[in-house]
Amino acid sequence: MPKSPLALGVVLLAVLGAGCGPVGEAAFPDLSREETISVVATTGMVADAVRHVGGERVRVTGLMGPGVDPHLYKASEGDVRRLEGADVIFFNGLHLEAKMADVLERIGEQRRTVAVGDAIPEPRILTPEAFAGEADPHVWFDVGLWRDAVGAVRDTLAGADPAHAALYRRNADAYLEELSRLDAYVRAQTMRVPEGQRTIVTAHDAFGYFGAAYGFEVVGLQGISTAAEAGAKDVQRLADLIAERRLPAIFVESSIAPRTIEAVQEAVRARGHDVEIGGSLFSDALGSAGTPEGEYVGMVRHNVDTIVGALVGGGEG
Ligand SMILES: [Zn+2]
Repeated sequence: MPKSPLALGVVLLAVLGAGCGPVGEAAFPDLSREETISVVATTGMVADAVRHVGGERVRVTGLMGPGVDPHLYKASEGDVRRLEGADVIFFNGLHLEAKMADVLERIGEQRRTVAVGDAIPEPRILTPEAFAGEADPHVWFDVGLWRDAVGAVRDTLAGADPAHAALYRRNADAYLEELSRLDAYVRAQTMRVPEGQRTIVTAHDAFGYFGAAYGFEVVGLQGISTAAEAGAKDVQRLADLIAERRLPAIFVESSIAPRTIEAVQEAVRARGHDVEIGGSLFSDALGSAGTPEGEYVGMVRHNVDTIVGALVGGGEG
């Protein structure tokens, strides 16, 4: 898959180990003497990772708020100004921010610009048939893989601001430990879902990594990107599958209009099976700031509790 030279620099850094800056680092100023480092991040998940690793030393502006769809998001004039004024820019990459590709590439010539998704080992990247073999960008739903993205944030900040590298490493260590605990929680909770019920039906294919990591089949109404509209045929095909497996619940998503999944629910009812809307999952954006779901860890916990509660039954979670 195509990767920007800067993102490759991060991968190389991860290979070479800490202590030396990313390839091309010399092209950008050493930020050690800055009072604070200003970072712009695209999605809430990436911004949250930077906040944890950067701590007090870094001011983070996230461009995409709650409910925003990153597949369709276009940079506003204000966004472009913020990107141009940033010391470091982090984005998800793997074509998630499809409509921002040109802007990110252009600004990447002037600013340190890093796709955290490119730090994930290539063999772990899913390339589903449904998306013509292109990379699935939703890597944050495998908590183990997201740890690699956090590592890319750590290595980039340490390279850009070497005087504070120890701080970034300390912060990253603490956060990575929290993510290990989160991964264990997800594993323990998802084990409770019986074999026959381990299917997640939702509006678009955001949960492929979740399925691969924790043992679920994931069926989305739309393709990997929300740009592809679901047709009537997709609705019928999905309704057949849900009725056949007698799945207890399907899910709506925070950054997608619920009408598509409601159409599926109607079609399943027409087949004589009552399927519940098991709740709303956060897919491509975090929840509101100040709520538990406004951070990555809380968002993942919400999703797991919602999925497990609905598929196990008994109203837990
Ligand atoms: Zn998505």
